[in-house]
Order: sequence, then C-alpha cells, then structure tokens
Amino acid sequence: MMRRFLIYLSKARWAQRAIPRLWFIKRASRRFVAGETPEEAIKAIQELNKCGILATLDHLGENTTNAEESLDATETILADLDDIHQSRLRANVSIKLTQIGLNISKPLCESNLKRILEKARFYGNFVRIDMEDSSTADRILELYGQMRDMGMKNVGVVLQSYLYRSDSDLSNLIKRGAKVRLVKGAYREPPSQAYPRKVDVDAHFDNLTRRLIDGALAYKAEPVSADGRIPPMAAIATHDEARIDFARTYASQVGLPTSALEFQMLYGIRRDLQESLVTAGHPVRVYVPYGTAWYPYLMRRMAERPANLWFVTRHIFKP
Ligand SMILES: Cc1cc2nc3c(=O)[nH]c(=O)nc-3n(C[C@H](O)[C@H](O)[C@H](O)COP(=O)(O)OP(=O)(O)OC[C@H]3O[C@@H](n4cnc5c(N)ncnc54)[C@H](O)[C@@H]3O)c2cc1C
Repeated sequence: MMRRFLIYLSKARWAQRAIPRLWFIKRASRRFVAGETPEEAIKAIQELNKCGILATLDHLGENTTNAEESLDATETILADLDDIHQSRLRANVSIKLTQIGLNISKPLCESNLKRILEKARFYGNFVRIDMEDSSTADRILELYGQMRDMGMKNVGVVLQSYLYRSDSDLSNLIKRGAKVRLVKGAYREPPSQAYPRKVDVDAHFDNLTRRLIDGALAYKAEPVSADGRIPPMAAIATHDEARIDFARTYASQVGLPTSALEFQMLYGIRRDLQESLVTAGHPVRVYVPYGTAWYPYLMRRMAERPANLWFVTRHIFKP
C-alpha cells in the first residue's frame, strides 16, 4: 500500500508542485541526489573515483512535454559529456528517453539521442538508456536497436526483472552483444505486465543474471575501456546481497572474469558494499543523479524502502 502511494505521489502533478517546496524534503534529498548543479555532481564523482568507484551521471528529468524542454535537456546532457571529458572523470552518462522527447515525437527523440551518442562517441564515452514504465519499453528498445543499426556501439540499455517480457527481450539483446544493466524495476506495474510478488521478481532476477553472464561469455560485446567509461556486457544493478552473491558465484563457476562483471548501485546507498566489491576486483559503478528535478527520483527511492520516510522526517527536527 505504502509503496503504491509513494509511487502515486511521485507522479501526481499537485504533489510535484507542493512536496519539493517543503524544506526538510529538499534537505533529505541530498542523501540520494548529489546536488542541483553540475559542479556538485562532478565533486561527488571525483570522490567516488578516488575510492576506485566508477560513476554514471544522470541529469534528473523525465516526461518533458514540449520540444523546447526536450532540447534543453539534450543540451544539458551534451554539456555533461564535456564536463566528464574536461574533468577526466571515470564516468559515463545515463539518460531517460522521455526526458529527450519520447512522449512528444519519435523523430524528435531520435534526433536528440543521435546527437548525444555522437558526442559521447567523439569522447570515447558511453550512454546508458534507463528503462522507464512499461508503456515506454517497446519504443525504448526499438530506438536502442535503431541506434545500434546506425553503427552506434557506445550505447546500452536496461532490463527490469519484474517484467515478464524481460525474458524474451534479453534473448534478443544477447544475440546482438548488447550491454545490459539488469535491475528489479522501480515503477508501478499491473500484474498483467509484472510479477506482483518480490520473491518472483528476485527469482527472475537470478535467472536473467545467469543468462546475461552466459551471454557475456558467449558473445563478443565491444571491449571495455581502461578509463572505466565503457562498461562490460553484464551490469548487475542492485543492493540486494543475495542477488549479488548469486551473480558472483555463478560467474566464478562458469569462468567469467571479475573484470567482466560490473555491479552498479545508487548514490547514497550501501557504500560499504560498493567498496567491498571493488576490493574483490569487480568494476563498481554508482549512479549519480543531480539537478533540480529531483522529486520523482526521490519518491521512487522512498517507495523502494518506506523506512526511508523516517530518514526524511528526521530532517524536520535537525537544526
Ligand atoms: C545503478 C542503478 C540503476 C537503476 N536504473 C533503473 C532503471 O533504469 N529503471 C528502473 O526501473 N529502475 C532502475 N533502478 C532501480 C531498481 O529497479 C530498484 O528499484 C532499486 O535498485 C532497489 O532495488 P534493489 O535491487 O536494491 O533490491 P531491494 O530488494 O529493493 O533492496 C535490497 C536492499 O537494498 C537496500 N535498498 C534498496 N533500495 C533502497 C533505498 N531506496 N534506500 C535505502 N536502501 C535501499 C536495502 O538494504 C534493501 O533491503 C536502478 C538501480 C540501480 C542500482
């Protein structure tokens, strides 16, 4: 119930206007969001890089409603790629296609995406297309495929283990040596699309992990880069230690090198686990979001773990 309510709040227009104005919410957001400016995000990434942790930079924003907004978002992502290059960060970028026009027009989104990928390619960098709610999945995977067909190899996608369809999507992606980030899924989906029970989402996660690791062994994806910007084919994005243990055990059973199995986590969550995986020899990448549009992102983090609500309310009483 609470999860559903929080996801509802993340989308409701009235809540998007009212809740971020509450001073303690803004203060609490700083646990999960690196800041509102690129400078703050760069600083956060430099600190991660110092500890051997890679990053993926996300300029927060989704569901732009007109072409101008989508072009502004595109310009910001292009500037992020410049910043990463100039500051020599060990980081790539993550983007949402609804931020760059997916729900406005496909040709607009396609042209924005192409500009971003071309700039990233110029810098030897990589772009991960986040997965959003299931109504966008077909269009996201189609645009991803189109970009690959145009010869853009520096792009990867995300699959969500709560969706039934991820089984067949993974088969198609593995065949083309795609770089895949596997997550559980953060949106509210109906039982016709997604496993309602956590135990099934977890079992599906392990199953997809196994197949992704097999794929990484069998197919040749583009090689990783020494600066850590281009990731390996298999990226397991979770804070769930049982899922991480499963992936590590299976990879070592079948002989996938630790350097070919990347783990990804969110900024502000389980730094201890991130560091222990680095020590074990895995690439570890932290998703670093920044920007003023932090509200829906924060609410999804609340929904994943309603105990975080206590963390937020504590900020009411902090001096
Ligand atoms: C790098 C990265 C990229 C992502 N990209 C996408 C995407 O493109 N599309 C998408 O739908 N989802 C994405 N997600 C979110 C993902 O779908 C999950 O909602 C999120 O990772 C929480 O699930 P979990 O795998 O950590 O497992 P859970 O079973 O939810 O959590 C396992 C444990 O992790 C810790 N934990 C989990 N979440 C939190 C939190 N919010 N605050 C504090 N502790 C927490 C807790 O200790 C919890 O017990 C991404 C996640 C990561 C890590």
